[in-house]
Amino acid sequence: MGDKFVPAAEATISVRTMAFNSGWSVFEGIRAYWNEEEEQLFVFRLPEHLQRLHNSARILRMELPADIDEMVERCRSLLERNNLREDSYLRPIAYKGLPTKLGVNLLDAVDEFVAYCFPQGRYLPTERGLSVGVSSWVRIQDNAAPPRAKIGGTYVNPALAKTDSLLQGFDEALMLTSEGNVAEGSTSNLFLVVNGELVTPPSTEDILVGITRGTIMEIAEEEFGLKVRERVVDRSELYSVDEAFLCGTGAEVAAIGSVDGRRIGDGNIGPITRQLQEFYLDMVRGKNPKYRHWCTPVHTSAAGTS
Ligand code: PMP
Repeated sequence: MGDKFVPAAEATISVRTMAFNSGWSVFEGIRAYWNEEEEQLFVFRLPEHLQRLHNSARILRMELPADIDEMVERCRSLLERNNLREDSYLRPIAYKGLPTKLGVNLLDAVDEFVAYCFPQGRYLPTERGLSVGVSSWVRIQDNAAPPRAKIGGTYVNPALAKTDSLLQGFDEALMLTSEGNVAEGSTSNLFLVVNGELVTPPSTEDILVGITRGTIMEIAEEEFGLKVRERVVDRSELYSVDEAFLCGTGAEVAAIGSVDGRRIGDGNIGPITRQLQEFYLDMVRGKNPKYRHWCTPVHTSAAGTS
């Protein structure tokens, strides 16, 4: 918290904190994977997440307490100090603290920073095809509250979509843009398999430009020779694709089995989705030497770590 490591019980904030009052915060969701053979915890794409945090902070006219390299080291150290030896989640938050004046001027509040971590297994049931429903809650627009940034207050938008979809009996929500095009899942990006190619909505379609999305685009082309097209997707196209999946730090690679009650493929994990899922889950644990540079080791004293 700030630039100190403190016990969780002491990491408290004032009720006057602007992040609490008005949602003025930017955050990241980062996973660390335990590699049993090496007795090592690997953080997946940590510098990229912290770079995105920095970019989100710039949108809210906020400064991070240190440069990206130093932030990487602080996050690594936090995980090490917690001695986590299982799959874990890391949550850094840059936020506006006490106001110097009442109002909505972002510059009238001080910049603060906190990060915490905890053990975390699966987020979505990834062993089967998910049932997803197109939400009647529309994704926020870039020129209203930019979805490109992970801004605390803007998560009321996917929260409404996800909660309603769960209460309607779906596993997950898909959100459309205010233009009516397909945007993304509540906290994940969407890919479709159409005629053997991957299709995903472009970064200009009011999505959070996911780090997993970028990872999938890269490995799909590099490892599986798949063509990836970023293009606008109509809602009705969802109902006739060969395969569909969601991806994100939390969601990892999660197959979609049905959309609005219409089955996709045979309703289970499609063959291309399965290949990408298996490759992804191996890679994030530091088991693929080619992508080891995406995995930051946490424990400095682990056996056999290079
Ligand atoms: N969209 C939204 C709205 C999200 O919150 C997330 C999770 N960060 C994603 C997509 C996936 O992004 P990433 O792959 O960077 O976790």
